[in-house]
Amino acid sequence: MATYDVIIGMEFHVQSKTKSKMFCSCSADHFGKQPNSQTCPVCLGLPGALPVPNRHAIELCVVLGLAFNCDIAEVSKFDRKHYWYPDLPKGYQISQYDKPFCTGGFVEIDEDNEKKKFAIRRIHQEEDVAKITRKKDGSNGKEYALIDFNKSGVPLIEIVLQPEIHSAHDARMIAEKIRQTARYLKISDADMEKGQMRCEPNLSLQKPGTWKYENGEIVPGDGAELNPPVEIKNLGSISAIENALDFEIKRLSEMLDKGETVRKQTRGWDPVNRVTTFQRYKETSADYRYFPEPDIPSIKIDAKTIDELRSKLTELPGEKLDRYKRDYGLSDYDAKQLSKRADVGAFFDRVLTEPLLSKIEIKARAKLLANWLLGPLFALLKANSGKDLFNELDVTEFCRLLVAVHEKKISNQNLAKEYLADIVSGKKLDELMVGGLEAGGVEEMVSHLIADNPKAVGDFKAGNKNAISFFMGLVMRETKGKADPSVVRKEIESQLNKK
Ligand code: ZN
Ligand code: MN
Repeated sequence: MATYDVIIGMEFHVQSKTKSKMFCSCSADHFGKQPNSQTCPVCLGLPGALPVPNRHAIELCVVLGLAFNCDIAEVSKFDRKHYWYPDLPKGYQISQYDKPFCTGGFVEIDEDNEKKKFAIRRIHQEEDVAKITRKKDGSNGKEYALIDFNKSGVPLIEIVLQPEIHSAHDARMIAEKIRQTARYLKISDADMEKGQMRCEPNLSLQKPGTWKYENGEIVPGDGAELNPPVEIKNLGSISAIENALDFEIKRLSEMLDKGETVRKQTRGWDPVNRVTTFQRYKETSADYRYFPEPDIPSIKIDAKTIDELRSKLTELPGEKLDRYKRDYGLSDYDAKQLSKRADVGAFFDRVLTEPLLSKIEIKARAKLLANWLLGPLFALLKANSGKDLFNELDVTEFCRLLVAVHEKKISNQNLAKEYLADIVSGKKLDELMVGGLEAGGVEEMVSHLIADNPKAVGDFKAGNKNAISFFMGLVMRETKGKADPSVVRKEIESQLNKK
């Protein structure tokens, strides 16, 4: 089998989280709403309706561009992209052609402490189309389509990457990074199942040495001919991106091995059978006859506005990851888990600076908190999925528990986990630790019991080891079985031996 160079480009559409649509004041929150209940002449595409751009949506697009180190255009404009489809009755989509809001920049991925950058070509703003649902008439078997315009006109950010990606795995990491960044910055919920983030990768396989890059595009080398790209549409999950690309790389390389010709085409992904399926040939690129949208004046974004938007950028996931490793000496794995979601990172940062924990050295504190957050607290989070634990948890009690564990006042890890569950359900650590459950308590309880039972002490001194079991039984009864038996036994033996 010959080896080929894999060349992947990616396009993403991310639905912005705005109150209203891109060019009208209808609600943009369309998911699960009564069909066609959120429409007006603008988003229905009726003749003569005038679009008014949504300032907040444009800001979100620019913020995403800033997060990915793009250049922001001082003067930008909207254009009409012409094509007709039942979900686009006005015959054009308002998009951006030659003056997008953002150009350049890159997506950076970080794996096993190795960073890779992937160039972004552009990030522009456009509007979504309506939703088509295909049905079959039960009486005559004929197909028909229902169109819901609630989604029509919802703001979409399109992100186009240069075809400089060379593996399905990197493509997946890029998609994860885009989703994570959009969520961190509250630009989008980016839920792929709900269609809030869509990805369309394109790929081609080329013989090594037959191609090169020119201005971010692949061009044939001298006398060589390139294999055309295949585009995969409508990928509904991050894993589908990797799986579909892996499948397609294998399919194309087998075709090329057999000397077959690849035709430029669009394919879909069948997640059940795990294959890509042919949709249509696409010999030439569509001519969308772009022209400037005459109803919207050009958009000027001055340096002051850009600075203001830049100041709104929170710490990005990559920056958080680096900080956790650099400042707290956390492992790559821990740092990644902690920085994965904005709410987890924010909780970690908040608890780490709690005064109660300040007596623990910072790196030990970070490690302790990371262990408890990523282990037991995450498990509880899963078990209480409806609860907003990060906001509801009594942080003071959680910190007290961490201190007790750190100072080895609670020696039994399972018990400490039980305490955490109890704290989650509203109990205080002081109530939980009665009965001598901390090490000092065990010591005190054993010394009381020894003082109260001189006969058993005498038995022990006479060589009767059963006395130990006798005291064990007493401690276990008083602590309702919650004390760590090995700690209790050690304490009893050491105190008896001193007698
Ligand atoms: Zn509308
Ligand atoms: Mn688009």
